[in-house]
Amino acid sequence: MDIRFLGGAGEVGRSGFLLEGSKNILLDYGIKLDRKTEYPEQADRVDAVVISHAHLDHSGYTPTLYNSAFPAAFGTLPTRDLSELLINDSIKINRLQKTGQRFVKRELRELVNNYIPCNYRNPVEFGEYSVTLHDAGHISGSAITEIEGRKGRVLAYTGDFKPEPQTLHHGAELVKCDVLITESTYAMKDHPDRTQLRRKFIDHVKDVMDSNGVALVPVFAVGRAQEMLAMLQEEGLADRVFLDGMAKAATEIVMDYHGFIDNPQVLQKAMSNARWIQTPRDRSHALGGGTIILTTAGMLNGGPVLNYITKLNRNSHIFLTGYQAEGTNGRNLIEGRPLEIDEGTVRIKTPFSFYDFSAHAGRTDLFNYIRKAEPETVICVHGDKDNSEKMSEELKLEGFDAHAPKIGERMSIEF
Ligand SMILES: [Zn+2]
Ligand SMILES: [Zn+2]
Repeated sequence: MDIRFLGGAGEVGRSGFLLEGSKNILLDYGIKLDRKTEYPEQADRVDAVVISHAHLDHSGYTPTLYNSAFPAAFGTLPTRDLSELLINDSIKINRLQKTGQRFVKRELRELVNNYIPCNYRNPVEFGEYSVTLHDAGHISGSAITEIEGRKGRVLAYTGDFKPEPQTLHHGAELVKCDVLITESTYAMKDHPDRTQLRRKFIDHVKDVMDSNGVALVPVFAVGRAQEMLAMLQEEGLADRVFLDGMAKAATEIVMDYHGFIDNPQVLQKAMSNARWIQTPRDRSHALGGGTIILTTAGMLNGGPVLNYITKLNRNSHIFLTGYQAEGTNGRNLIEGRPLEIDEGTVRIKTPFSFYDFSAHAGRTDLFNYIRKAEPETVICVHGDKDNSEKMSEELKLEGFDAHAPKIGERMSIEF
């Protein structure tokens, strides 16, 4: 079998790995949302696509497969609905930015029509292959893909995964395999201890509210928003929360399939305690102080967060909680540059902090997971070039046949 790396190799974003065998199976097909959107290489003949999870760097380009063909799409139900939500939004953003449309709604509808919903640990036969999804512990519906060939060899693809538990997820399931395609986002960095981080974050948020400031927490609509909401509920703070942006629709989908998360009752309570922004009056109420605003976009690139960030009172604080990609306003803020808002630039004086609530495996967990999965071959993707290459070198020293491929590369594996 050959693997072609269409994107997401030596970079974070636009993941796309094409397995070429008796059937061609594409693992993810996403876009890269930097200053301008980047796309993976074209996939020629695709018999099926597996979508590991809804984030656009894994799902965002899948509709292009349905221009003139109808490949099967495998994934969980939350992934189907959350992808549809995020892809629809990306169509809108593209239209606003006039960046040119790569696909239209009809193709997105075809994706949904050809979707085969999978439950975790339930093998689905596809030609001579057997495809099984396992809980990846990253966001609702996220999956580690296991593909078994006729000769009994097993290939696993982690997608984005987290072995350590979060409020709404227990850790990723271990999948023993011969070939492992793994993310390497944090191959060189461990995350801080989650319990301590949470304590520090909550104390800080309370301090800001006690001085009548606004705790502005920019979040990704899918994943971080629900995780933060559940955490604030557990801390008895959900009734101080105002939610804005796409997080509402995303949280509703997550609750529709509550079997895919842990502690759904906590999220349910959080939803009824928090206030959803509906009118301009709600917005000014949220800005009144002593409040927490959870809103998209997580990297401050568009979305309602930009309505708030210039209007915060002087005791307010910005809490960044996730990865801020190169070229985004979030990165601008961290590096002391002005933000680009409505075709102008604005310097933000509100202080900010970064709390590393990552939903990805940190270095120690990543290496431990690989050791326990016991593959012969490890392929490091979804990481900056440096990270993936260093990780591959270290794995070689441990005796693995490790690789850090480049985009466009093709690799043969025994399968
Ligand atoms: Zn993700
Ligand atoms: Zn990703």
